[in-house]
Amino acid sequence: MKHAVLCHQCRRSEAETYIPYSRQRLCVPCFNAFFENRIRKTVEKHRMFKADDIVGVAVSGGKDSASLIHALRNIYPELRLRALHVNLGIEGYSDHCAKKAEAMSEATDAEFLVYDLKGEDGVSVDLFTNTMYRRKTCSPCGLIKRRLFDVLARRSGVRVLATAHNIDDVVSIYLSGFFSGEFTYIARMKPVHPPLTENMSTKVKPLFKTPEAEAAYYAALNGLPASDVKCPYSKGNVEFKYKRMIGFMEQNDPGFKFGVLSLFMKKLLPLIKEEERSIRSCITCGLPSTNEVCGYCKRMDLLKKLSLQDRR
Ligand code: SF4
Ligand code: ZN
Repeated sequence: MKHAVLCHQCRRSEAETYIPYSRQRLCVPCFNAFFENRIRKTVEKHRMFKADDIVGVAVSGGKDSASLIHALRNIYPELRLRALHVNLGIEGYSDHCAKKAEAMSEATDAEFLVYDLKGEDGVSVDLFTNTMYRRKTCSPCGLIKRRLFDVLARRSGVRVLATAHNIDDVVSIYLSGFFSGEFTYIARMKPVHPPLTENMSTKVKPLFKTPEAEAAYYAALNGLPASDVKCPYSKGNVEFKYKRMIGFMEQNDPGFKFGVLSLFMKKLLPLIKEEERSIRSCITCGLPSTNEVCGYCKRMDLLKKLSLQDRR
């Protein structure tokens, strides 16, 4: 007969999960506490926000952001949360994500704000499939999303915007930046990124030290509404290659991701100076840009032209 293994924390309940890098077996309530404690410590260590601030959370409809907003609500009941969502108009994907994001905002008592690309600009990210971005749709899509989250943050009066980047995202971005020589890309991937100009929000990453698998497990344990549908363009995302690689390394050497994170943060980041870029206002949208016309406006212009061609 197999004996139940007791939780290493409470020593009372049956353990339901194993955390390989810390060799802990945890029951459900102790896993939830472990997961939320690490977020609280990350928020407090990096002074991301105060317990009663107004905080925007970028909710995609997926597991990571569902876990983030749910955990924030549990840890900080006084926090005035805004769930910000960008509907990219991707066929068979975006509307499904929008429904989950809205359900998550209701569950956490967060005001829901959406930027609907089709409704507001008459375009969708799908149109990039007919351009040179065909196999790399994530690149312009990511840029558009980041800008639209800034727009939503301003619309809702949010000064702090929390994104659900987890340790797998951060380490894969570090490695991808390192191997492509884009060191300034690495420098920008910090737990707290201050605004470039006054009218932008501070970006914070409370899941900076949370493994993706734990965020998914937390979402499942707590029955959070989160989409399982994969974006049809996700295969073109270069960071996925690094995610697979670090997943393999982690399996063979538990704690590998934490090691890389600490190495980059303590040793490499201090050596990289963020590129001095002269920031000016984009002549089209007025938002901060390093060029006369910002990258967002250029991509949106392309989408609008493609949309017109489509209608002819
Ligand atoms: Fe956009 Fe790529 Fe994410 Fe799809 S996977 S939503 S294309 S960034
Ligand atoms: Zn612009």
